[in-house]
Amino acid sequence: MVDLKGQYEAIKDSVNASVLNVIESTAFINGPQVHEFQKNLENYLGVKHVIPCANGTDALQIAMMGLGLKPGDEVITADFTFAATVEVIALLQLTPVLVDVNPNDFNIDIEAIKKAITPKTKAIVPVHLFGQCADMDAIMEIANAHNLYVIEDNAQAIGATYTSKDGTKTKAGAISHVASTSFFPSKNLGCYGDGGAIFTNDDDLAHIIRGIVNHGMYKRYHHDVVGVNSRLDSIQAAVLNTKLPLLDEYCNKRKEAANKYNEAFKGQEKITIPFRNGSEDNHVFHQYTLKIQGANRDALAQHLNDNGIPCGVYYPIPLHNQKAYQDSRYNEADFPVTNQLVKEVISLPMHTELDDEQIEFITKTIITFVNG
Ligand SMILES: *Cc1c(COP(=O)(O)O)cnc(C)c1O
Repeated sequence: MVDLKGQYEAIKDSVNASVLNVIESTAFINGPQVHEFQKNLENYLGVKHVIPCANGTDALQIAMMGLGLKPGDEVITADFTFAATVEVIALLQLTPVLVDVNPNDFNIDIEAIKKAITPKTKAIVPVHLFGQCADMDAIMEIANAHNLYVIEDNAQAIGATYTSKDGTKTKAGAISHVASTSFFPSKNLGCYGDGGAIFTNDDDLAHIIRGIVNHGMYKRYHHDVVGVNSRLDSIQAAVLNTKLPLLDEYCNKRKEAANKYNEAFKGQEKITIPFRNGSEDNHVFHQYTLKIQGANRDALAQHLNDNGIPCGVYYPIPLHNQKAYQDSRYNEADFPVTNQLVKEVISLPMHTELDDEQIEFITKTIITFVNG
């Protein structure tokens, strides 16, 4: 699905040197690379504060802790996403409220959010799924009208640019009150282990969060709040400093590969190519995900596997049907889109090193199978 080796080969000399530099300095924790990366990412995103942390799941949890959400507060998020999003809500004893997504871009459905708001609702967590920004104008409008926080889960869309109705362009993750991201190796900006970060334009919130990531300390050995230990280590920061200047190029390569896939699937009735919501730079194709209708998705996945073509089903089970997140308040009739998508979606290899020959082989294999 990804070609981390090919990507590494292209930056081997500079990334090796930067990693070796950390090892020789022995400043493995809180080395200068971490602060440097923080500044570099703040500049790239146009956001006032980046707080690096250990992974994207921690980033979400810490963002929620920073906002002071309390047990019983309701947090609305999408039913069709990776489990990390709902996991941290539950872990903090907040009440997850899963809602359906829209069938085009697979992102959280605006009408479903409106329907789910109660006096206990405190926050909305849109996930920019597969690299495409959710409808942030509408989400921020609802949040402002109801006095809710918005936390963007930007683990899949770093590098995307959202264009508002008024034409303003903002990087994904810099739109809402606070955002989280992941530098897991296969993400669009991946490090060589685990990593994550929280972004915000709010000075007070940034201060609170900097304490939370460091055991609740604002002054050495004074623990004012219950915190966590969540750090991006210096080696990962060094890798990210080498890769961040390449992020736009990486995103462009993904977009080019997506365009080639789209071209090859043109006119195929059983294959729905990814919907693009808004401008070209709104979608950075963390995943290239098709909907298969009128052919057997699972049989196609098996056929691709048999032909040495990796593929993935993200995600095969709606979160509201997962054992850990079932809730008697959910009604199947409220999730028609997610319930359908889990049967139809299939994600194809998508990375910065895809070549024309690979794309041709993949697309031909799929087209022949679904029409066979
Ligand atoms: C990858 C991912 C996460 C979690 O990131 P980790 O760094 O693996 O903890 C959270 N949310 C979404 C949507 C993701 O894709």
